[in-house]
Amino acid sequence: MDINISYDHEFGEQTIGEQNTAVRPLKQIWEECMAVVRARVNNQSYKTWFEPISAARLEHNKITLKVPSQFFCEWLNEHYYSLINEVTTQVLGAEIRIEYEIAQEEIEISPEDMFMNAPQTEKNSSAGSAETESAREESRPEAKRQNFDSCLNPRYTFENYINGDSNQFARAAALAVANNPEGTSFNPLVIYGGVGLGKTHLVQAIGNHLVKSRRSHRVLYISSETFTVAFLDAIQKNSIGEFSNFYRSVDLLIVDDIQFFGGKEKTQDYFFHTFNALHQQGKQIVLSSDRPPKELKGLNERLISRFQWGLTADVQSPDLETRIAILLKKSNDDKVELPHDVIEFIALNVTSNIRELEGCLIGLLARASLESRKIDLDLAKDVVNSVIGEVRTHVTIEEIQRIVSEELRIPEDLIRAKTRKQEVVLARQIAMYLAKELTNSSLKTIGLHFGGRDHSTVIHAYQTIEDAMSTDPKQKSLVQQIRSKIENGLV
Ligand code: ADP
Ligand code: MG
Repeated sequence: MDINISYDHEFGEQTIGEQNTAVRPLKQIWEECMAVVRARVNNQSYKTWFEPISAARLEHNKITLKVPSQFFCEWLNEHYYSLINEVTTQVLGAEIRIEYEIAQEEIEISPEDMFMNAPQTEKNSSAGSAETESAREESRPEAKRQNFDSCLNPRYTFENYINGDSNQFARAAALAVANNPEGTSFNPLVIYGGVGLGKTHLVQAIGNHLVKSRRSHRVLYISSETFTVAFLDAIQKNSIGEFSNFYRSVDLLIVDDIQFFGGKEKTQDYFFHTFNALHQQGKQIVLSSDRPPKELKGLNERLISRFQWGLTADVQSPDLETRIAILLKKSNDDKVELPHDVIEFIALNVTSNIRELEGCLIGLLARASLESRKIDLDLAKDVVNSVIGEVRTHVTIEEIQRIVSEELRIPEDLIRAKTRKQEVVLARQIAMYLAKELTNSSLKTIGLHFGGRDHSTVIHAYQTIEDAMSTDPKQKSLVQQIRSKIENGLV
């Protein structure tokens, strides 16, 4: 499932010198190329744009490079084409065409792929004659799985899954199933939770674990949407028998995002029978959903009740510690060391899901290499801003009071006291204004932090400062100056 892309650059017609390819394996040639590149680009760019590349093939006048994404490929082509061209020419002794192949991250199977799998399964399981070559093959446990595409992404493992309070229960349930797929009463295991919280990762981790530990087990990962498409295709091609046999031959069926079965009645009916057949044979079923089964819309009752037979576990938004642990692990995997304040800033501000955390990390690396910038707090602020829209600041009211009093040289406790001296009143009002602007605190809370004043005092202060800023440029610049002090002091 790779996509080939070739760019039409001018390239010479020489043939690669025989001595350059015949004697050295491709891996070694590519390592030599990378050694030259490493000396030519900075470390960050090398890690971001070159380490993920592998050389897939070297054919007559053409090298095919495997890259992680379309974006990556376009980026390389735009920014590093001449470097790669120069380096391959130097190492191979002749100019050659450079092609890219994208290794798809989300491995989805098409209906055609299903049927490349399906008849094979049939043949294997019906190969009754012990004399035949294929039957002998079949008696070896690993052969049962030969050519069987589980459609799992090998990146999603338990080892890569950070444990935290938010996912502890779901992870423990998933591990129990992975370790003992026939032995738990968690059948089906349903993992549910919001977008980007690690459902797909977790359900695939079960599959990857089993593929490794039970060599004869057939594991199949599929999204409910792909299942639907394949099912409709089978109806159209009149091959529903084959389709059924295929699904009923698996030992672990993982169906991701079952909420998309909603409203598709025929598919649901069919899935109901598949579910029953597998369940009766004691085969494990793992499902994921964006909400608990009983809240699924457009699903018929009998299916929902099946989904509730086993165990339902949720994944929640990660807490701060888990977010920090995830950032540390992922940056460590990418072999980059992030300054502590950068990690903390991202973890404090990107709170809703893990996909966004990853997005920030990728953004940081890309921007650092693209703009030749150091990874620091300023860059982190820019990146977080673009990933989550607006940076949610985490300044406290106390911090605002401290900075205002420092800037205006007023003792901090006077800001909270009853003093009505003009300069203290001004400082207090500015601090209240900024507390309203920079924190999510209610007027009541703000009032409480200022010696127990009530909310109308805070409103009055806010309006006074707003008016002063619109009529008096000096006041405006004073408030803005204090505000930027507070914002820049944030981690
Ligand atoms: P969902 O399916 O719930 O939308 P995913 O499983 O696709 O979420 O997770 C989004 C990204 O976050 C993936 O790249 C995944 O590897 C990563 N991720 C999620 N949870 C964790 C975790 N606990 N530890 C490490 N990475 C995680
Ligand atoms: Mg998912």
